[in-house]
Amino acid sequence: MKIRTKLTLWFSVLLAVVTLVTVFTLIFAEKALLRQTVKSQLVQTVEDNSGELEFFATYEQLKQGFDSDRFIPLNDGFVGIDSDFLTHIRGIYVAVYGENGDLLYGENPFGRSTDSLAFSPAIRTAGEKESTCFVFDRKVVLTDTEDLWLRGTVLTDSRKGELNSLIRLAIILLPSLIVIALLGGYFIARNHLKPAERMAKAVSEISGGQDLKRRVEVNGRGDEVQELAQSFNRMLDRLEQSFEKEQQFTSDVSHELRTPVAVIAAQCDYILEEERTKDEYVEALTTVRRQSSDMSRLIADMLDYVRLEQGGQVVDKEELCLTSLVRDLCNDLSLLKERGIVLSADLTDNVLFCGNRRLLTRLFANLINNAYRYGKDNGHIAVTLMQTETAVIFSVTDDGIGIEEHHLPKLFDRFYRADSSRSSKGTGLGLPIAREIARLHGGDLTVSSRVNEGSTFTVSLPKNPA
Ligand code: ADP
Repeated sequence: MKIRTKLTLWFSVLLAVVTLVTVFTLIFAEKALLRQTVKSQLVQTVEDNSGELEFFATYEQLKQGFDSDRFIPLNDGFVGIDSDFLTHIRGIYVAVYGENGDLLYGENPFGRSTDSLAFSPAIRTAGEKESTCFVFDRKVVLTDTEDLWLRGTVLTDSRKGELNSLIRLAIILLPSLIVIALLGGYFIARNHLKPAERMAKAVSEISGGQDLKRRVEVNGRGDEVQELAQSFNRMLDRLEQSFEKEQQFTSDVSHELRTPVAVIAAQCDYILEEERTKDEYVEALTTVRRQSSDMSRLIADMLDYVRLEQGGQVVDKEELCLTSLVRDLCNDLSLLKERGIVLSADLTDNVLFCGNRRLLTRLFANLINNAYRYGKDNGHIAVTLMQTETAVIFSVTDDGIGIEEHHLPKLFDRFYRADSSRSSKGTGLGLPIAREIARLHGGDLTVSSRVNEGSTFTVSLPKNPA
């Protein structure tokens, strides 16, 4: 069963139950309320009528003192009944009885069930089933004659009609309400779940067709389905990116390996073609040796880079004195005295940092080696190490060939070489590896450079990486 059908059914049944319970409670309460109203109207009517009777000893007195022509002869006199005396109003009957229980005036349609009841000023119930009624009596004390009793009677269900119309209304309204709720719920559920269905379809198309470029349509409703679609699209973005990276990496690697492999194969073909001289063998083997060491360096760098980029490797960190680490490195590398280049170091004392010794040594060594490689003959390399409150800053500045501005944004891309003529020995992975190491320590590597003036590579490492 679909979610929308389930939701609609559940809410409709719930609505029906809640409405039914409410309506029945209302009807029950209304019934009790109506009965209460009937009772108080009965008492009120009887009370009102009790003041409308007066006794006259003679007919003349009655004629003179009373303007109503309604009267009852009683004990040689007359009881005048005022015109305001109501014998029947809103289903309430009021009758006048003598002390001995004789009906003197008015009517009591429930006489058969109430005649046996003694007079009493309290509300009682008499009769049964359809003709159950409330009875209320009131004594009327008249001067110069016996007391009379007023008996009011009314059907307990005299206002049943009102209740019936309420029930009728509920019978018509309830099912219509439920149908409206059912249809409304169904359409709302359908509308809101449609994007989810479309999403499911798109997802299966994407997974079936391997088309990672496709995205799920995002509705602008700001609901959960929209959130889901956005998260899904973000996931696809990441998947596509890593898929493209992987493809790019594979093609970069095969491109980088193609040349040395082709050279080795060509050299082998050449020496196997015919018998060669010893010198030719030595030359060919030297080339093969050189190419294979280039390849093994490239493979080692590639593996390092992949590991670093994936960030998967757990980096052991320890408290290091970067000042002595960089000083030792500078001392070692300055021994190279390559092409007359002089290295000077300006290092702040006792710069402490928590990091991985091996990786940080590699990062600094990469940058200093590059400064030698791309520095000008008899040039100068300046290494600085300083610290602020929040970061450690290491920089290497050379006065070498510099880098053209358009190369700068791509400089940290894998296998990117700005100047192929002078970097033939490099793998193009030194800077990407260096930057990954800086990032692994929560920092970054940046470059500024001017052609023929030199370059500065700056590593900034936060002391408390987030
Ligand atoms: P490589 O092994 O080729 O040196 P890197 O990733 O270390 O690879 O450097 C990438 C490219 O950046 C180099 O090929 C070179 O063109 C440029 N480069 C790196 N360092 C310097 C520098 N100090 N001065 C000028 N160019 C540099």
